Amino acid sequence: MTNNLKQLTDRIYYLPHDPKTDRPILSAICGTQQTLIVDTGNSDEHAKLFLNEIEQQQVNNFHSVMLTHWHWDHSFGANKMNMLTIAHEKTKKHLEKIMDYEWSDDALNNRVEKGLESQFCSEMIKKEFDDNRNINITLPNITFKEKFEVHLGDTRCIVKHVGGDHSDDSSIIFVEEEKVLFLGDCLYPSVYTKQPQYKVDNVRNVIEKIEMFDAEIYVLSHQTPLTKDEFMGYINLLKLICDLTEKYQRNRLNLVNELSAQLNRKLSQLEEEIVYCFINGI
Ligand SMILES: [Zn+2]
Repeated sequence: MTNNLKQLTDRIYYLPHDPKTDRPILSAICGTQQTLIVDTGNSDEHAKLFLNEIEQQQVNNFHSVMLTHWHWDHSFGANKMNMLTIAHEKTKKHLEKIMDYEWSDDALNNRVEKGLESQFCSEMIKKEFDDNRNINITLPNITFKEKFEVHLGDTRCIVKHVGGDHSDDSSIIFVEEEKVLFLGDCLYPSVYTKQPQYKVDNVRNVIEKIEMFDAEIYVLSHQTPLTKDEFMGYINLLKLICDLTEKYQRNRLNLVNELSAQLNRKLSQLEEEIVYCFINGI
């Protein structure tokens, strides 16, 4: 079952994502002196599950929890985590904006109608919290602008703001000694636009920043961690679609035909969806 803690490397544990209520991966990076947690989870329940799991592995001496970005599924567990929280300054700004929101069905539906909330997130919040909408948003204690470093004892974590289409506050965490890169959701399309979208310039920009780090394992929050080969396949696909989007502009059919010719096969559903997002972003 997906709900058990897994060991990624000598020093890193993670609780796999759970698509039922859009729970992202939660991770613990364990240095010889201290532990850094990545993301707080989508609810008290999610945070509690993770804390129980890492306790069983005797993971302790928490330095802090780092948020990859502000979205509910990564930040709503902060109250339960009850640790020093570090985030990009824009992450804090976004959370300040939603602090006084109400979370009843009516309030959620209302915000979806006004375009302030995504339909998908609204459905997932209803499912995760059911009738108990006791949501306490906790603001980060420490913020940074471009870059932040955390030394855990024999383990250095470099946090870098990358932004991108998914959320302008997205930050990535590189664990140098383990060659693991936590990407949060920074490579996924936007969620708060009418249609999910990718913009060519934004995607290229994020990829350029990611490529500054020489990693072997890539952790995207809503899927199984990727090897370098798998990740490079994904990045090269995005780069190719960037080029073809520029070449064909709005002509989706020509874009799909050339992509399909270059890959020498019919497009998968994921590839079709990526093309759709790029067309939306023009
Ligand atoms: Zn997100």
